[in-house]
Amino acid sequence: MKTTEIAVIGGGPAGLSAAIVASRLGAQVTLIDDNQRPGGQLIKQTHKFFGDKTHYCGTRGIDIAAILANELKLTTTEVVSGTSVIGFYPGSVLALADRKRFFKLSCKSLIVATGAAENNLLFPNNDLPGVYGAGAVQTLVNVYGVRPGKRVLMVGSGNIGLIVSYQLIQAGIRVVAVVEALPRIGGYNVHAAKLARLGIPILTSHTIKSAIGREYVTGAIVCKLDRKFHPVKNSEHRVKVDIICLAVGLTPLTEILWQAGCHMVYIPELGGHVAWHNETMQTNQKNIYVAGDVSGIEEASTAMLEGRLAGASAFEYLRGKSKESRMIINETRTELRAIRQGPFSRRVVRGKKKLAKSLL
Ligand SMILES: Cc1cc2nc3c(=O)[nH]c(=O)nc-3n(C[C@H](O)[C@H](O)[C@H](O)COP(=O)(O)OP(=O)(O)OC[C@H]3O[C@@H](n4cnc5c(N)ncnc54)[C@H](O)[C@@H]3O)c2cc1C
Repeated sequence: MKTTEIAVIGGGPAGLSAAIVASRLGAQVTLIDDNQRPGGQLIKQTHKFFGDKTHYCGTRGIDIAAILANELKLTTTEVVSGTSVIGFYPGSVLALADRKRFFKLSCKSLIVATGAAENNLLFPNNDLPGVYGAGAVQTLVNVYGVRPGKRVLMVGSGNIGLIVSYQLIQAGIRVVAVVEALPRIGGYNVHAAKLARLGIPILTSHTIKSAIGREYVTGAIVCKLDRKFHPVKNSEHRVKVDIICLAVGLTPLTEILWQAGCHMVYIPELGGHVAWHNETMQTNQKNIYVAGDVSGIEEASTAMLEGRLAGASAFEYLRGKSKESRMIINETRTELRAIRQGPFSRRVVRGKKKLAKSLL
């Protein structure tokens, strides 16, 4: 069994930032990620980031991953890639598995930055080959250079649905339509406008009713929804597609936190069950911290800030407060509050407030 002071699970923006900060402060850190390449979601994001100027706005996600990975290389963090954490045992022992081995890692403190999984949608034939999560399609196209089909129906007009649609067009795939159950487009106008300029219909108050096909997707039935989200009679029409892409939200990946006995609370605004945590990302299990999408679905910019907070707090838990750790925590909390002032953060702020009250 290996040992470490701080184990970080997840090498996305949150986990990388946590490891960089904790390691720079002087802690022994081990970062485990199931991908071969560090960066989490960022490695497939070829678009320039939206968000705050001070948090890599205008830089491509893939380049942000490289910047963070280079910063990590300058620290003493041990990186265990291509390895999944598959269990948590009492005494803060993690079970790790790669393609060949099963082994254990004992830690004094744990930062869980596992990110999120894509949501599925219930409709007939949703298990046919050709029905994908939008993130999966983005990985195929942008990371592996594989076009999964020729014509796509995108379900969901949040930023992910809009951005992935545009990237599919860039890859030579025809986006037949984007359907959105709400009466309005969910994502930023700037992303919707790019599709509108190319003549891609974004059908609000519409959804997918079923997928068509015997062995794989050959089409889909879409229909209109009324104000109560009920299908409007005789509004169905058939679209010819070979990919149905679901961009209908994400759910925090919390299995390790459940196993560790953290106090879990269902907060819809944060994407589902999340671990209760305080303002420095500490859970009710004092040596366990969370950061990024696993603590509530948000953005890479906030994931990086939460990671910094978790890294500095875990360091203080082990070694006590230092001038530097205090400065990082205070500055990062101020930045996080500032970045969450915008209208798109209202939902998350509401969710975090609900969560704070849940342990009273
Ligand atoms: C299409 C799209 C566009 C986006 N655009 C923007 C944008 O413009 N601006 C912005 O700020 N945000 C954007 N985001 C959101 C941003 O990518 C995420 O909020 C951010 O990546 C979350 O960071 P994270 O570190 O919490 O999780 P992730 O980036 O998901 O990283 C988690 C990592 O943990 C690993 N992992 C999970 N479980 C385990 C385990 N048990 N063992 C080992 N490893 C594990 C995962 O494989 C992954 O590598 C976008 C997201 C998408 C999908």
